[in-house]
Amino acid sequence: MALEERPDAKLDRGVIFLGPPGSGKGTQAKELAKAYGIPHLSTGDMLREHVGKATTLGLQAKPIMERGELVPDSLVLKMIAERIERPDCSHGFVLDGFPRTVTQARYLGELLKQHGYKAPFVIHLVLGSSVLLRRLTGRRTCKVCGEIYNIYDRPPKVEGICDKDGGELFHRPDDREDVIAERLQAYDKQTSPLVEYYRRLGALHDIDGAKSVPEVKAQMFQVAAEMREAR
Ligand code: AMP
Repeated sequence: MALEERPDAKLDRGVIFLGPPGSGKGTQAKELAKAYGIPHLSTGDMLREHVGKATTLGLQAKPIMERGELVPDSLVLKMIAERIERPDCSHGFVLDGFPRTVTQARYLGELLKQHGYKAPFVIHLVLGSSVLLRRLTGRRTCKVCGEIYNIYDRPPKVEGICDKDGGELFHRPDDREDVIAERLQAYDKQTSPLVEYYRRLGALHDIDGAKSVPEVKAQMFQVAAEMREAR
């Protein structure tokens, strides 16, 4: 029976998506969260919401995000802790874009221990920079539902319009080539050490992110099913 038809299938742990910008984390993380009925926590989406609402945090984060740099841990950690502590995360949650530094990963480990969560497992999407560039420059996101398209590989039926709800599609300001270079550099310097960090903990599951969305999805579900059984 398909996972979608089994609302009782609980993951009961956190899942971390690790991979460079454009590796498909957002697309796949949403699929996994939907299938298991657990929250999808994207720190990028949370920060963009703060920016949109011009909160204190949003005003601090905006110029940093526009440059493609990482927002300081001091701002991100409190935001994610408050979210993970909400009761809807008690049967598991999907983290997309967090942790992004070793400090964030250590903090997350402690936070989950404190709250009695099992150790999280990591889906690591691996792929090279030429594919990433094409994905990022072609990415368009629905303003209403957040659905992600790509003008080269997965275009909407009508240009600029979401197939699902007719919402307007937008090009993220940090998906422009000069900012992309900065974001990829931030990944290499600050986030890629997490690959070894989680590998040493035995938590890392590598998936070839250059494969098609359905192929990556199938492999991801297989890993999740195995991790569900590994109590
Ligand atoms: P994303 O949507 O995950 O690509 O994130 C967009 C931007 O938000 C990043 O380029 C960072 O500026 C900021 N950001 C998102 N998540 C984090 C995080 N965990 N730590 C620091 N900055 C973050």
